[in-house]
Amino acid sequence: MDIRADLTDLIPYSAGKSVAGAIKLSSNENPLGPSPKALEAIRQALNSIALYPDGRALELCNALAEKMGLSTDQIVIGNGSDELLVLTAQAYIQPGFNAVASESTFSEYTFGVRLAGGTLKKAPLKDGFFDLEALAALIDDKTRIVYLCNPNNPTGTYFTATQLDTFLKKVTQDVLIVLDEAYIDYVDEVDFPHSLEVLARDSRILITRTFSKIYGLAALRVGAAFASPTIISHLLTVKQPFNSGTLSIKAATAALGDSEYWNESRTTNREQRKLLQAALRERGLPFYPSQANFVCFDTSRDASELFHNLQKLGVSIRPLASFGLPTWIRVTVGTKEQNQAFLLALDKALSL
Ligand SMILES: *Cc1c(COP(=O)(O)O)cnc(C)c1O
Repeated sequence: MDIRADLTDLIPYSAGKSVAGAIKLSSNENPLGPSPKALEAIRQALNSIALYPDGRALELCNALAEKMGLSTDQIVIGNGSDELLVLTAQAYIQPGFNAVASESTFSEYTFGVRLAGGTLKKAPLKDGFFDLEALAALIDDKTRIVYLCNPNNPTGTYFTATQLDTFLKKVTQDVLIVLDEAYIDYVDEVDFPHSLEVLARDSRILITRTFSKIYGLAALRVGAAFASPTIISHLLTVKQPFNSGTLSIKAATAALGDSEYWNESRTTNREQRKLLQAALRERGLPFYPSQANFVCFDTSRDASELFHNLQKLGVSIRPLASFGLPTWIRVTVGTKEQNQAFLLALDKALSL
């Protein structure tokens, strides 16, 4: 049995490594663990697991609608935002059509588009930032989607509201613009785009958010997409009937309401990100300014070897060869103790 001929060069996803006993700073999870409110919601819901979940996840949609100032028909819940990204391609891409994205960004965009039989056109980064002009120039009459990750994984860099407005003016009407905002909760810069306001005036926008990062529920696989009711109806057309489980929906709804946990997660990240960046500066290691919960830096050597040595020293990070940055590393901002352990291990590994 052969795989589809057009997929023979597709490589299965390689996740951030998890090693028993090692500190995991490889997948940008919340180092504080889950919200206690989410855990309690799961305990309360345990008896209901013999029944199918609500395939529309209305409880969570309604909570999000209220919080974001949207209507419920502008929201769909996914099995992680990964699923929603793949669904955008399922709904709009077919052989002969393409999508546009940056180089050195999240791999799920390519995955979904290739599965749908389309191709991905990529523009290089400019000094670690998205080159929105180059991205706009790649759009042709066969382009159906542009994927923009803001802040970007793995660089942590962002584009501003003004840059987005300029970009939108250059894009024709029938192109979906996906804003993947997995890390928006960590952003401090005031010129970051208010994407919900952009969505209110521009029906080409689809925003994805996730419960895997600041909401601390990566194992439960919950993401959300916000868009016009028409676009949401298209995603519902291609979505599996029961794509997110009851425990996941209940936990996400509870976590969404736990502002104390959200604030603490955000504050811890802001303080520790600053310290981590200062420590990299001290060591003369170039890094991109991060608005996310990770920092991306250049080691000027083969980062996969460094990755193996750090792993032996008990810390797991993400080497970025698969993102086209073979000498760079992405490290999640952990707790104070985790970051100190990481820096100690880094010093040792760099002197080997
Ligand atoms: C982590 C991440 C996501 C979230 O994926 P889930 O499927 O929701 O866990 C989405 N986009 C980017 C860029 C990410 O880094």
